[in-house]
Parts: sequence; structure tokens; C-alpha cells
Amino acid sequence: MADNTFPRIGDIPGPQLTGWSSVAVHAGHTKDPMYAHQVPIYASSTYVFDEAEQGMRRFSGEEKGYIYSRWGNPTITEAEEKIAALETFGLGMNVKGILHASGMAAISTLLLATLKPGDKVLTHYSLYGGTNELLTKVLPGLHIIPVIADLRNIDTAEQLLKNDPAIRMLYLETPANPTIQCVDIDVLSSLARQYNCLVSCDNTFATPYLQQPFRLGADFVVHSTTKFLNGHGTAIGGIWLGRDIDFMQTHATKVHRLLGGNANPFDTFMLIQGMKTLELRMERHCHNAMEVAHYLAAHPAVAKVNYTGLDEHPDYYTAAKQMRHPGAMLSFELKGGLQAGIDFMNKLQMCVRTVSLGTCDTLLSHPASMTHYSVPKEEKEQYGITDGLIRMNVGIENVQDIIADLDQALH
Ligand SMILES: *Cc1c(COP(=O)(O)O)cnc(C)c1O
Repeated sequence: MADNTFPRIGDIPGPQLTGWSSVAVHAGHTKDPMYAHQVPIYASSTYVFDEAEQGMRRFSGEEKGYIYSRWGNPTITEAEEKIAALETFGLGMNVKGILHASGMAAISTLLLATLKPGDKVLTHYSLYGGTNELLTKVLPGLHIIPVIADLRNIDTAEQLLKNDPAIRMLYLETPANPTIQCVDIDVLSSLARQYNCLVSCDNTFATPYLQQPFRLGADFVVHSTTKFLNGHGTAIGGIWLGRDIDFMQTHATKVHRLLGGNANPFDTFMLIQGMKTLELRMERHCHNAMEVAHYLAAHPAVAKVNYTGLDEHPDYYTAAKQMRHPGAMLSFELKGGLQAGIDFMNKLQMCVRTVSLGTCDTLLSHPASMTHYSVPKEEKEQYGITDGLIRMNVGIENVQDIIADLDQALH
């Protein structure tokens, strides 16, 4: 199968980039034939052949070159190579990434390309809602069955893997939505390898700046690039990366092209521009989140703060072990329950009432009245979603303004 790539910065002899942001800015970029400084938005469904023989050579893979944008597109290649470079920064290894139309397109393509009827997927109970529904409502129709457990308990994970050889995939998401729970990627990956099981990790909340699952043993990494990688809330996107380059270039590429969940060049252009400032943004997000967590923890109206940067969080050590910093996401519980949650949300002035995360502005959502409104109460409580729980994406505004807004809304 054709590998539609041209030489990239990393392939051309030149300076070895040693800084994280240097790679974020330059990796994946090719010199444009028209000398455009920024990668153009290649809004073209097909690519032309000089003569019929060239078409033959491209289809056979003998000649590199693009054919059809569902298969590959120069704007999209730049983003794929940039994210692959960041996920392996400093590791001395290569991975291949395939950009998708959304995080869910990346996750569903990954699961459909790696699992077959009769296989089981072991996962942690706190998981992105869409992934949870895919695993519990769609895949069972194909006889791919989820096994949902508390993977913070390593003995539980080991017993399940040992007693059920049908478990072929360990699907991790850490930190997880919306409880900010963390699971140990390194320990779980070693266990999975012992039982011949693949490991995937959703790295959306952490980003490659804070955590590199490939370093910790994951076979696959997925992202919703909609969040921190884009960083500005301007486009939906996702990526699936894998360490087995051969597999990614053959079977994974084939399934991706046939399922048709390809990204589009405009959204990808927005993603590329956003990623250049990822380190700067994450540093500020993280700094602000730590200050906000301490402020909330000391507030009399707040019953509990879930932030792995606070040492009372049960996953404090797991986060400290595998992440550069606990990150920008936190949640907290208001003492007054459902009505307190609604009142608080309605009083916010600068901070934005919305779902999603990973944008420059501070976003807050109230799962009990929004994302999880229709989930039965017992189920919500089992996932740690109480009526007064507020989820917060701490933005990059000046922290005194974030705290001032929270303060007046808590009053
Ligand atoms: C948003 C999100 C997804 C889904 O991504 P989309 O781009 O919305 O399809 C998957 N995992 C996590 C952790 C997310 O936050």
C-alpha cells in the first residue's frame, strides 16, 4: 500500500531539534512548492497523474504521492507527523499516526481494526461518555464485549487478565473524565504484555506535553484533537497512533480508508496552528489549575475537590509518577447538591458554561444537569458523579480573574 509521504523536517539532514516547542512548531512541515510559509489547506479531493503509468506507480506504491484525500492529504500529513513527533519526543522511537474526523472516529477505527467477534476489551469504569457507549451499546452487537472494572486496583486487573484469555485489549484513559481518576499505564501495560493483550491509551486530558503513554508501554495512543491539541475550540478531530509501524501502514491504514473517518484539511489547518503553542498553553493551564484547586479546597461551600495535584486525591501518586504536571482539568462538589450546582452555573460571568475542554477560556459544566442528566442516579453515583459535581477546564486567562468569577458565583 502506498505510503503517501514526502520528506519532512525530521528526514532531511539538518539541526537536531532538542526543545519541545521547537518540535511542536517545526515537526512535520515540508517546504511548500509555491513557497507558502504556512502549510496550505489542500482543498482537493483528488490528485492528478502526469500520465497513466504514473497512476499505476502511485497505486502500486512504487511512487510516493497522493491519490485521493480520503487516503491522504498533504495538510493532514503535516498534523499526523507533528503529533507523532510530540508523542515520541525524547524517546528515540518512531510511531505512525492516522488523523481522523473526530476523537470518536479514531477510537472506533482503532477498536474495529484490532478486535474481532469473541474478543473482550478490559477498561476502567470512569471513561469518556462516547467511548463508554461505543463499548457497551455498539460493539456488543459485533460480539466484542466490554469488561469494566476499577483498574486502579492492580490485583483486580491481573485476576481478570489471567482468568479470561478472550480479553485482547486493555483500553485506558488517564486522567479520566469527569472524575480525574488516573490508572498506572506502566504497571498495567506490563501486565497486559504478560497476558498477550494490546494496550491503548486515550491521552486527551494529559496531551503529549504532560504524559507519553508510548514511553510507559502502550501499543496505541488516541486523542480527541478537538481539545488541548487544537486548543482554541475551533475544530473537531482525532488521531490514532501506533508503535507497530508495519501494522499502522498496512491493516490500520486499510481499515481507516475503508471506514472513511478521515479528517478534513480545513479543521486540520486549525489543529496545526493550535499545536505550535501547546507547551506555552499547557504551562499556563497547569499553573492556573493548581491555584484554582487550592482556592476551591479552602472554600466553605465546596465539599470536595478532585484534582490529582492535591495530595488527598487517591491517584496523586499515580499522576505524579507518569505525568509532568497534574494538568488543567479538575472537578469539585458543592455542598448544596443539584440546586447549588444550577445556581452556581447561572452566576458565572467570565467563565463559560459549556461542555468540552482544552480551550484557552475557562469552561465549566454541571454533569448532573447536562451531560449525565438522563443517567439513573445509582449509575451516576457509581461513576462518582454526584448532583453537586462541577467539572472545570481551567483556562489560560489571568488566574485572579478566574478565581474572582468563581468567588462571586460561590457567594
Ligand atoms: C472529547 C473526548 C473524546 C471524543 O472526541 P471527539 O473529538 O468529540 O469525537 C474522547 N476521549 C476523551 C477523553 C474526550 O475528552
